[in-house]
Amino acid sequence: MKINYSYLNEQFKNPDPILDDIKKLISSGDFTLGYPLTEFENNIKDYLGVKHAVGVGTGTDALFLILKALEITNGDEVITAANTFFATIGAIAATGAKPVFVDSDNSFNIDPEKIERAITTKTKAIMPVHYMGLPVNLNPIMEISKKHDLPVIEDSCQALGGKVDNKFVGTIGIAGGFSFHPLKNLNVWGDAGMIVTNSDTLYEKLILLRNHGLKNRDEMEIFGYNSRLDSLQAVVGNHLFKSFPEITENKIKNANLCNSELVELSDVITLPKVPSHIKHVYHLYMFLAEDRDNLLKHLQDNGIDAKVHYPIPLHLQNACRALGYKKGDFPVYEKQCEHYITLPMHQHLNAEQVMYMVNKIKEFYKKN
Ligand SMILES: *Cc1c(COP(=O)(O)O)cnc(C)c1O
Repeated sequence: MKINYSYLNEQFKNPDPILDDIKKLISSGDFTLGYPLTEFENNIKDYLGVKHAVGVGTGTDALFLILKALEITNGDEVITAANTFFATIGAIAATGAKPVFVDSDNSFNIDPEKIERAITTKTKAIMPVHYMGLPVNLNPIMEISKKHDLPVIEDSCQALGGKVDNKFVGTIGIAGGFSFHPLKNLNVWGDAGMIVTNSDTLYEKLILLRNHGLKNRDEMEIFGYNSRLDSLQAVVGNHLFKSFPEITENKIKNANLCNSELVELSDVITLPKVPSHIKHVYHLYMFLAEDRDNLLKHLQDNGIDAKVHYPIPLHLQNACRALGYKKGDFPVYEKQCEHYITLPMHQHLNAEQVMYMVNKIKEFYKKN
């Protein structure tokens, strides 16, 4: 059996309905900030129950533009998760601010209890990351935010549809950033991102920032950027938006089946801790495994496209050298990096394929 990580060829087996709408767009010529974008922004806004949505070029730009709108700049510090994707800290660094990492807990996400001690006089914001599609428990973080008067920016790029206490991620802090990269839960045919916020002032500023700072065709209010979500990608996004609830529920169903089988192996496998008030949407199906490298090889030898996200801790990457971190600074996360493994767990798998992976894992530990 062969279990691929990517599902894009299955997902876009019949692209004709999308292509038909793209043809309509072409005949309208409405390519930048066009009608499909307005529709996509409204779809996301209504789904999340949030006041404003602003389509931008990428998920990275979404985070960067929120930081810019909050006037975060050279010399400032932004607290974020040690365990995140490269883009989070790339966005922070692009403003001139310094990313300040906080160690993980047993959810694999930022440990809320360790945030306060990372706050300095230079701290300007906290950017928790809902990694793997597993929402961070934001309740204690919102308390810290209030106490220290620091805005919370949610990196929700992996977690559209995830919830904390029945509130969608992205809508709980001052603003949230989403990515529609081809392998994210809601995807397009290239790059696209979205910012959501309930703040009118932030919204007004973001609208300017994404479009050269232009108030209208002739008047430039501030210096801005060019980061617009393409109308063409918005057409794709609007199509995928319709199947997004089903995609999400299928991923969760497959993940739950796998979870219910892997609990048997709790001496060698540790699943992330998901508190009952949190809804995990499984962008990535990750867990910690004993003897990870050999398990990875065993799965790959058996046609399962398992991966590691990521073997090198972020603070030990060359790009982070100037931040001055060293091995041992984030012991929980560093230990987890030695054991992380990710299984393909998408909406196109059936129960038989999930059980095939489960059985290959059980086989591996029986032999050892
Ligand atoms: C994908 C991702 C981003 C960036 O999204 P792009 O659309 O690829 O720029 C940011 N943060 C996290 C956690 C991500 O997974």
